[in-house]
Amino acid sequence: MTASSSPAFLAPRPTLLPLDDALAQLLSFATPEIGVAAAYELVDTFEADGRVLAQDLHSPLHIPPQDNSSMDGYAVRCSDVQNPAAQLSVSQRIAAGSEGSPLQPGTVARIFTGAPIPAGADAVVMQEDCELLAELPAQSVDSALPRIRIAQTPQPGQWIRRAGEDVSRGAVVLRRGARLSPASLGLAAGIGQAQLPLVRRPRVAIFSTGDELVMPGSVAPAQMKPGTIYNSNRFFLRALLKRLGCAVTDRGIVPDQREATIDALREASAAHDVILTSGGVSVGEEDHIKPAVQALGSLHVWQLAMKPGKPFAYGKIGAAHFLGLPGNPVSSLVTFVLLVRPFLLALQGASQVHEPSVLLPAHFSWPRADKRREFLRVRRNAAGGLDLFPNQSSGVLTSTVWGDGLVDNPAGQTIGHGDAVRFISFAQLFN
Ligand code: AMP
Ligand code: MG
Repeated sequence: MTASSSPAFLAPRPTLLPLDDALAQLLSFATPEIGVAAAYELVDTFEADGRVLAQDLHSPLHIPPQDNSSMDGYAVRCSDVQNPAAQLSVSQRIAAGSEGSPLQPGTVARIFTGAPIPAGADAVVMQEDCELLAELPAQSVDSALPRIRIAQTPQPGQWIRRAGEDVSRGAVVLRRGARLSPASLGLAAGIGQAQLPLVRRPRVAIFSTGDELVMPGSVAPAQMKPGTIYNSNRFFLRALLKRLGCAVTDRGIVPDQREATIDALREASAAHDVILTSGGVSVGEEDHIKPAVQALGSLHVWQLAMKPGKPFAYGKIGAAHFLGLPGNPVSSLVTFVLLVRPFLLALQGASQVHEPSVLLPAHFSWPRADKRREFLRVRRNAAGGLDLFPNQSSGVLTSTVWGDGLVDNPAGQTIGHGDAVRFISFAQLFN
């Protein structure tokens, strides 16, 4: 070392970027280039769960299409049922899937749930409120027809589901940018859509860095060499990406070498919208990600004022977006859900990219404030409060399985027992 070169430990510490600023920068780069109308694809509705809709969906019909019964019972004219003792003959039977004929005055129609209300009927009486008269009076004129007696006077409209009460013809049932849930698939199918116009899947290449990493299955636990660990990040990252509708190319584990890292990044950048890496993005000599990205493209974000998750990076390599996650599993998971997830949703033109948090009482205390904004692994308890996982280390993945969400604790803040804190659930963030 020469006298002029400053030792690494004396180098000025870079200022850490606040999470919100980093997120704003990422989102400004996430122009929905794959969300434009030209890039949509028609996908079988069965396969559309979790994907983003590329066009508004208008309903070509009313849902329900006709007035129909919401009960098994009898369709009546209310004016025929003013006298509780009156007996009425059952002039027709209408099951779901069939079509009745206009209701003859002075008669009722046997009707089942979902069957169309016959013209002339203005209410349904549930079968529990009717007495079926097995014995027909001897003098009955239409003795071939069964007769019923209705104890209570019905209200007009009762037990009738009105045509269009769910969706009226021409209405937009789902908007462009909607992320499709199982319920949305049901609604889309209900208006007759066998296929849906979806934003095409982002093509995401992932790789893990770390010479210590071993794939489960390749070495038995008892044979693991000292210093090696199984690759955890690859599994949750792939699962999270799939849930977000991405087409994943998994490049496996890349060794901690500059040239290998550059080669992997260059190759991935050619045919992918996004490159996602884990590990190797800190400042040690074995961390090759940052210089490799700078050699191939540009780095826009590096090192965040958050805990866990400080060593996060964003950059561009050619047209591809680069997102570098820390290697520590909890840091990797937390930066994914707080940064990569909104980025990937924005890239697809999703209308909602952020998840709302709620205020809940802390049933724990956190007496030591940190300079960085912290994300604590917690679990909702039966008393409506939050319990804290005892080990908040960024390597302890158990905290993310035991926990059901994160407390977003501002920088410099302590938490006292009973304080209201911001909670975001994993159910939202993993979706
Ligand atoms: P790094 O960010 O590469 O310095 O890694 C930080 C810590 O995370 C180290 O203890 C690594 O062994 C660990 N780590 C890195 N990648 C993974 C991975 N894919 N799965 C599990 N642990 C990892
Ligand atoms: Mg490493």
